[in-house]
Amino acid sequence: AKSAGPGSILFYEAQMQAQVASRARLQHSLREALQQQSFRLHYQPQVDSAGQVVGVEALVRWFSQEQGFISPAEFIPLAEKTGLILPLGRWILHTACTQLATWATQPGRGHIAMAVNVSAGQFQQDDFVQQVQEVLQETGAPAPLLKLELTESAMVEQIDAVVQRMQALRSLGVRFSIDDFGTGFSSLAYLKRLPLDQLKIDQGFVRDCLEDRNDASIAQTVIALGHGLGLEVIAEGVETPGHQAALQGWGCRFFQGYGISRPLPIEALEVFLSQPAAA
Ligand code: C2E
Ligand code: CA
Ligand code: CA
Ligand code: CA
Repeated sequence: AKSAGPGSILFYEAQMQAQVASRARLQHSLREALQQQSFRLHYQPQVDSAGQVVGVEALVRWFSQEQGFISPAEFIPLAEKTGLILPLGRWILHTACTQLATWATQPGRGHIAMAVNVSAGQFQQDDFVQQVQEVLQETGAPAPLLKLELTESAMVEQIDAVVQRMQALRSLGVRFSIDDFGTGFSSLAYLKRLPLDQLKIDQGFVRDCLEDRNDASIAQTVIALGHGLGLEVIAEGVETPGHQAALQGWGCRFFQGYGISRPLPIEALEVFLSQPAAA
């Protein structure tokens, strides 16, 4: 490493200040974006082994007037820190359920499930169950086709409270997937108690599963674990036919990733849905 010159601390401070300022700007425009409704949902197809679309994952997009496209990897953590995730999360849920309700009335679309990401802070709100119930009522979306994606970080609070909340949502008919499975800290004892429907193999294990024996082993183990617990297992980050073939050979039956389709705006998704399965 270069030795620090006399100006470097000042330089570092200036850099920090610039970072703080740009964060504050981002936070301000995030608030504005929420008011001006400059968010969009894109939908990434999820397919079975025959290439049939069984569902989609809703992924939020922000096209900022000043800064152009901003990745959710950047603004979701900020929205979580500032609490803006609560109104934004509600908008996401409402928008996704509106789309789900539309499909429910269309021929050949009535089976498509909608996976929606739910942040820990959003899930932990006291009235979250009520919010979901309201959104289902307002939109008329069929609850069994709504799949909430939780990460292990949503489960750090009292396990009993988590189980209770999930059960209340379940009695509405809603389903659950654990996102990024294997990257958090939840124990297998927890896993046993949670009323889950699906495990999602984190894309970090999928990416190199063809070359890296450890990743392959983890992917295989998650598939066996999920199936052993009676859960569906889906792999995300499936970028090539080779990935899909390997995962399929290990027993995985559901797939999502650029190799099948990128997340698409609704118009492009409709085109994708109209094509025959790629099998
Ligand atoms: P995630 O929930 O794990 O979503 C999967 C991310 O992987 C998405 O990035 C998706 O576009 C990307 N992806 C899908 N297939 C592939 C692939 O084959 N290869 C690679 N390299 N990437 C792939 P995206 O849309 O940028 O979202 C990033 C993260 O931001 C999400 O990770 C999620 O944690 C968060 N996020 C996105 N939308 C929402 C939302 O509506 N609500 C909440 N709470 N968080 C969201
Ligand atoms: Ca997700
Ligand atoms: Ca994920
Ligand atoms: Ca992730």
